[in-house]
Amino acid sequence: MSTLALPLPPGLRRISTWRRWSLWVLLGALVLALLVTVVWLAARYEKSVAQANVERDAADALSDIRSALNRNVQELQSLQAARGSADRWRSEAEQLMRAHREWVRVEWRGPTLELLAEADTPFRSPVFSRFGRSQSLPEVQQACIAAQRISGPAYARSHFVPQADGLGLELMELCLPHIEAGRLTGFFVATYTLTDLLATQIGPQMGRSQEISFTEADGTRLAMHGVARRGTRVFSAQQLLDLPGNTMVLRMDSWRRSEPDLFPNVMTALVTVMSIALVTVLFLLGHDTRRRLRVEEDLADALAFRKAMEDSLVTGLRARDLQGRTTYVNPAFCQMVGFGPEELLGHGSPAPYWPPELADEYRKRQDVRLATGNAPPREGFESVFMRKDGNRFPVLIIEAPLINAQGLQTGWMSAVLDISEQRRVEELSRASQERLQATARLATVGEMASLLSHELNQPLAAIASYANGSMNLLQQTGAPASELQVAMRRIAEQADRAGRVIKSVHDFVRRRDQAREPVAPGALLEAVLPLVNLQARKLGVRVDSRVPEGLPRVFCDRTMVEQVLLNLARNAMQAMDEARVHRPTLLLQVRTASRSEAGKRWLEFAVVDCGPGIPEDVKQQLFTPFFTTKAEGMGLGLSLCRTVVEQHGGQLVFEPNTPRGTIFRFTLPAEAEPTP
Ligand code: ADP
Repeated sequence: MSTLALPLPPGLRRISTWRRWSLWVLLGALVLALLVTVVWLAARYEKSVAQANVERDAADALSDIRSALNRNVQELQSLQAARGSADRWRSEAEQLMRAHREWVRVEWRGPTLELLAEADTPFRSPVFSRFGRSQSLPEVQQACIAAQRISGPAYARSHFVPQADGLGLELMELCLPHIEAGRLTGFFVATYTLTDLLATQIGPQMGRSQEISFTEADGTRLAMHGVARRGTRVFSAQQLLDLPGNTMVLRMDSWRRSEPDLFPNVMTALVTVMSIALVTVLFLLGHDTRRRLRVEEDLADALAFRKAMEDSLVTGLRARDLQGRTTYVNPAFCQMVGFGPEELLGHGSPAPYWPPELADEYRKRQDVRLATGNAPPREGFESVFMRKDGNRFPVLIIEAPLINAQGLQTGWMSAVLDISEQRRVEELSRASQERLQATARLATVGEMASLLSHELNQPLAAIASYANGSMNLLQQTGAPASELQVAMRRIAEQADRAGRVIKSVHDFVRRRDQAREPVAPGALLEAVLPLVNLQARKLGVRVDSRVPEGLPRVFCDRTMVEQVLLNLARNAMQAMDEARVHRPTLLLQVRTASRSEAGKRWLEFAVVDCGPGIPEDVKQQLFTPFFTTKAEGMGLGLSLCRTVVEQHGGQLVFEPNTPRGTIFRFTLPAEAEPTP
């Protein structure tokens, strides 16, 4: 059962459209928010990773530098062993300096900081050669005072020493006191260049991607190592290098490319692509669902329409599959045969509504249909079905092949019409027609009875007089036999004539043959002429009949057409008689009609009189049954004539005759081929 899909009212439709669009907008916004979040998170993660890397590198670098400085202190301490002679000390110090690029000078100073020995780095020209060492002495003093105070290595604040090449070096003094038995015996002073300290202690790997520098607490840069600035994003980390006597900041700057990347990494790109794909798929799915819904609605409408149509039909519908099983019946069919759908559906042959005595014949007919696949005639065929109560009734079945969407035949669809009522009406009208015709014929006969007696008078009188004459002849002896023979022949002739008159009336009344057959038009006229002549003689009318040669035969119900001719001829003669026409003449003629249709020819019969014509008021009612202007008339003649002619497909018309009188014409179908 399909349900009827009701269309939404416009208000609701607007709301649902609005909701659908707002859902789509929400979905789009969510996906966009997701994308932005993913990009933002990825960028933040990338940033934090880069920052952490820099922090870690800075911490590593700081610890490297710290341990290098400590190691250096120990190595400087090793020079104590060479304190015996200044030269030896110098040579050892020079040797030590080969391993320490970061030192530019090592000095041995006495307890009052007087210079005892010194060694310069072999890697560069002597640093203090240009402006002298005295400029740096405050720093040396500062370091050594601190060293003395803490009895351990101490550093001085870094200071700048210009060089001959126009540049300069940021130097830091390290002072290591040596104390023997609680007494200060002297100092070893090592001068670091901060640049080389960075260069030697920071691994090349680190220096390649970042810039490492020593700065003061206020940010003033003291020394720098590493690459120059690359990219726009900078990640910085600072570590405090807290040395006894000096505190510096180790700063590390790592450069990255432009900021921020739209797709910071592959994952973001992947998420984006997948989101777009997801939205596209959702959109397509939504589109598809909407289209499906629309199609379903249309289908439901079509089904509801079809069901309403089938239920309202009075024609029974029945579908059968190729095995002859019933697959569908509509309510009208069930009502017609009296079986419910459950008793019919899925039922093969013999169907419950087949009369048992005809079941074999029907099964054969069905087998032939299934075997040949030939469709029955389009106009249908008649059959007999049986109702559930056993009553038989005639049906008209129109059958057509059932073709599915793939163009394959899946069975047969039949429209079944119960024609029992139609049959009953046909039967009734045929019976009443016959009764009417019989009555009309009898009426004609009644009229003729008087004519008959008048007509028979002549031959009977002739027979009587011939008989009397013969008797006289027989009484005379020697009467010639030849005369007697003539008299006898005349008697026989007159008796024959009387017999023919009686027979013509008898034939006319008794003939009940109703079949249509081809009849020569001349034969039709000849059949009625004896009866027409009966009346004509009584009324003194001259009868003319004109039938040209070579006319085709008429395809008609002979008896009925004769009746028409007789009625028209009788009316014509009566009209002329009533008007007391001088030399009344009746003309019966046949010719080919001007009316013609494709493949069909017509003959026209005309009954012409020279009577008074038909007055206007009579014309209106001429064909109305029981309309008559005659005292003893029945008023059925013309209406019967018209019925008969129209039953043959022809037309009955009348028109005035010139100079006077009336012409009645009617047409009848001719046989298809003209007779030779
Ligand atoms: P009925 O002959 O019994 O009167 P019809 O139906 O044959 O019934 O005719 C109806 C009437 O038509 C007649 O009464 C007559 O007045 C008129 N009529 C028929 N034929 C002619 C004719 N040829 N000329 C004049 N009047 C006619």
